[in-house]
Amino acid sequence: MAKDMKKKYPELKRRMKEAQAIGAASGLAGWDQETMMPPKAAGSRAEQLAALAGVYHEKTTEPAIGRLLRKLTKDGKGLGSGERACVREWMRDYRRATKLPVDLVRELAKVTSLAQDAWIKARRASDFGSFAPWLKRVVALKRREAKCLGYKGHPYDALLDAYEPEMTVEMLDPIIEGLREGLVPIVAALLGARKKPDSRVLTRRYPEALQEELCREVMGIMGVDREASRLDRSAHPFCCGMAPTDVRITTRFNERWLPQALYGVMHESGHALYEQGLPMKQHGTPLAEAVSLGVHESQSRLWENMIGRSLPFVKFIHPRLKKRFPAQLAGVGPRELFRALGRVEATPIRVESDEVTYNLHIVLRYDLEKALLVGDIGVRDLPGLWNDRMKELLGITPKDDAHGVLQDTHWAQGLIGYFPTYLLGNLNAAQLWHRIRRDVPAVDSKIAKGSLGPILKWLRERVHRHGRRFPPAELIRRATGRPLSPGYFIEYLKGKYGEIYDISSWGPARG
Ligand code: MG
Repeated sequence: MAKDMKKKYPELKRRMKEAQAIGAASGLAGWDQETMMPPKAAGSRAEQLAALAGVYHEKTTEPAIGRLLRKLTKDGKGLGSGERACVREWMRDYRRATKLPVDLVRELAKVTSLAQDAWIKARRASDFGSFAPWLKRVVALKRREAKCLGYKGHPYDALLDAYEPEMTVEMLDPIIEGLREGLVPIVAALLGARKKPDSRVLTRRYPEALQEELCREVMGIMGVDREASRLDRSAHPFCCGMAPTDVRITTRFNERWLPQALYGVMHESGHALYEQGLPMKQHGTPLAEAVSLGVHESQSRLWENMIGRSLPFVKFIHPRLKKRFPAQLAGVGPRELFRALGRVEATPIRVESDEVTYNLHIVLRYDLEKALLVGDIGVRDLPGLWNDRMKELLGITPKDDAHGVLQDTHWAQGLIGYFPTYLLGNLNAAQLWHRIRRDVPAVDSKIAKGSLGPILKWLRERVHRHGRRFPPAELIRRATGRPLSPGYFIEYLKGKYGEIYDISSWGPARG
């Protein structure tokens, strides 16, 4: 039997590695579409991507793969622990992929593609009514998807699981409730503060070419491997890893908003460091794949916010900025710059919000998605509920639906269950950061000198190198010694914004 296993595992691995290579080629074609592709190539590219997606689906759902997986799951005696983890994760992917009937997969692809078109037009005209019928169809299909995939508690679990394996509403609800409770007094104090940081310095004119030069320098300081990465421009910044040796990131520049490119690049470089830190020896298997979106986003947020927007890092970057922008930064020291970067404001737009208010945007979407999925609310109720909740959580009302319920593309794309991973990213990041500060000696003075290697080494060891060996919640528990808790993020905010806003007492948490 053991001899038989010896042949089965390599056979499975060979097939899965081939499928992974096709997935990576499709990722590359997607990257090209956003960065380099001439506009007239859109039609042929769509055909190429659809063809690759079809081959990928066929290769990963072949009955032969199912047979190999079942045998190796039943009897994995000859396998090492890494191989067993691969079988477990491949089985997880196989089950998800084969549980959905082909007609549902096709219908979802078709409806979400048309819904995106409808959403673009509806957002432009701020006309929710024209998008509502499409959203209704998407929600109905996602309900069916959840039913096909199966769940024990809430139907939302089945959708969330695609982005954050093994996370459930039952686990997430108390985390989010704890976060909301902790955030309310902080947000109230910061938005109501009489003296606010002046951020006008960030809106002076910063020439793009010099910003780009600085961004590339920062990537190097963070430890992004230049020989295994690229930085390009795109409308929406992203990171895309084909292999640990081939990771692409993008950014966009705004000459009138200094943080845009600098912190955008730090964010995407955080994602890139994770991709580059996956073990190349295991490339093509789950051991060299990122474990979840919530863990991926923790890497980007940690580098962008916990490190990049900290006073020690601003002290480090200040002379490098001053060298390039002496007139723009005349009379502005590191501390003023740090304060300017830490201005907190209620904005109706999620992607423009700061790290404090950001999570309330997610709380709002999470509550609505769950209620929508079980039918507690209908699509037509969304604009009203959205605005009511925005008023309640942030004290503002969007001027129209384009700045409210229509602002994000996720629902049009069928990505229900995706939003909470942004929030998990912030919480994971704060908890990892808390532990890094204990484990890495004199971390602040290291950051102030631009010596970030010890932080990267810690992340490599505790997070990156494991790939999908452990489920995300277990990975975070192993890395930090504790299960995920919103308390670390709340304490982080209190420390940092207490300093920026000169606040020492935050008032009691309230509901
Ligand atoms: Mg990100």
